Amino acid sequence: MQYHSTRDNAVCVTAARAITQGISKDGGLFVPESFPPLSAQEIDSLVNCSYVERATYVLSKYLTDFTQEEVKACAEAAYSLERFRDPAIAPLRTLHDNTHILELWHGPTCAFKDMALQILPHLMRVSAEKTSDGKEIVILVATSGDTGKAALEGFRDAPHTRILVFYPEDGVSPMQKLQMVTQEGENVSVCAIRGNFDDAQTGVKTIFTDPAVADMLAQNGMMFSSANSINWGRLVPQIVYYVSAYCDLLKNGTLKNGEPMNVVVPTGNFGNILAAYYAKKMGLPIAKLICASNKNRVLTDFINSGTYDRNRAFFTTTSPSMDILISSNLERLLYELSGRDDAEIREWMSALSKDGSYTVSDTVKAAIEESFVGGCCDDEQTAATIRNIFETYGYLCDTHTAVAVHVCEEYLRDTGDTTPTVIASTANPYKFSSSVLTALGADVSALDEFEKVEALNTATGEAVPSPLSCLRGRTPRFTGVCDKENMQQVVYDLLGIQ
Ligand SMILES: *Cc1c(COP(=O)(O)O)cnc(C)c1O
Repeated sequence: MQYHSTRDNAVCVTAARAITQGISKDGGLFVPESFPPLSAQEIDSLVNCSYVERATYVLSKYLTDFTQEEVKACAEAAYSLERFRDPAIAPLRTLHDNTHILELWHGPTCAFKDMALQILPHLMRVSAEKTSDGKEIVILVATSGDTGKAALEGFRDAPHTRILVFYPEDGVSPMQKLQMVTQEGENVSVCAIRGNFDDAQTGVKTIFTDPAVADMLAQNGMMFSSANSINWGRLVPQIVYYVSAYCDLLKNGTLKNGEPMNVVVPTGNFGNILAAYYAKKMGLPIAKLICASNKNRVLTDFINSGTYDRNRAFFTTTSPSMDILISSNLERLLYELSGRDDAEIREWMSALSKDGSYTVSDTVKAAIEESFVGGCCDDEQTAATIRNIFETYGYLCDTHTAVAVHVCEEYLRDTGDTTPTVIASTANPYKFSSSVLTALGADVSALDEFEKVEALNTATGEAVPSPLSCLRGRTPRFTGVCDKENMQQVVYDLLGIQ
């Protein structure tokens, strides 16, 4: 299995190269040359397997330059009970009737980013050995909150690796911020920027693709890689849990092999839902892919109109990990839907960076409509959903998951679709205690972050995950803030190079 760039079909690299390099030199994203089929018999054979076995099976189809033993060792190290608090790793719960919740937040940072970022450092280590550059790997991350912490936790004290995280100063929840600024490890740094997530992501992408910066690092025996969802090593582990959810629906008798499920994903950078689309391309029976957005509804509008337009107001919402106007991974979807037309992708992406918008062809628009549904919801609807789901079903969900639940219910009501539907639940509710408590009707104005956690615990009886409760009283290690124009200098300073 080789990997091409979305902006140049002539680029051809191994999985190990795609993972260590992170992004193609032309600014494009690495994509597999084809989608390895997953047959009904193969799915059957995975039904009674553990998550590690399912992961090893699926990942081996893409990481063909890894040995089976290497893939298995990575999966075992990542999805262990030392790291995850549920033996199923990604358990599926039935909310009601045909609606199921795939809980992706039982890892160390309580958000779904752990599903990929617990295994990425292991994939990166094996990849670096194969590409044998012998350089120290510098992981540069832009985060809307959850990626940063999950990457710090995944890469902390990983040998021959440094990790630098930039987050928008006012764009993450207090708990997310506390998780990052108290991060332990000898090889980690965290810095806030004055700007929003798109500024952080654009800054990181610019540094990444600047040949002068790459030279400077090379002179110092270092090279960049990415832990953002543009990295293939981030995306491929996410395919696994959709296969796993389908196996669980077979196992509990909801579906017979071959019958379809829908998938609903609360979406930001389009990584999570793209993984579901890739699973569908492999042959996993997925009917509709339902893309749920918050008030930053650039994807809803795109799916419904064929025009992507980031020239609009940016809203800070109660689901901050989805406050994004440039969804990077959409480029990978467009590449497939355009019939792998790299010239068309180059054109659209340059229009996006120059004018902030582009319109896809009618063929691509039709292809989007065939598989995707877009929906969105504002903060009031999110809060009403949290309260309603808790009061009706006794299930407590976080703000991001609630966006997906709302869009899902609207879709099922409007269409009368009775296909069993899996909602990706992307964070533990305690990561967003303030918004969740407010949704339940509490007045939080006088409470500090940990009093909110306590109050939520009292109100709901849901257990507080230990990685969050243990942050109480910790002193911040990282207090730096920089302007978005100065990110490159901050990187040099943190790496100690001139
Ligand atoms: C990152 C994140 C999302 C968005 O996922 P994408 O893969 O970027 O679309 C949604 N919810 C939570 C809690 C997240 O951390």
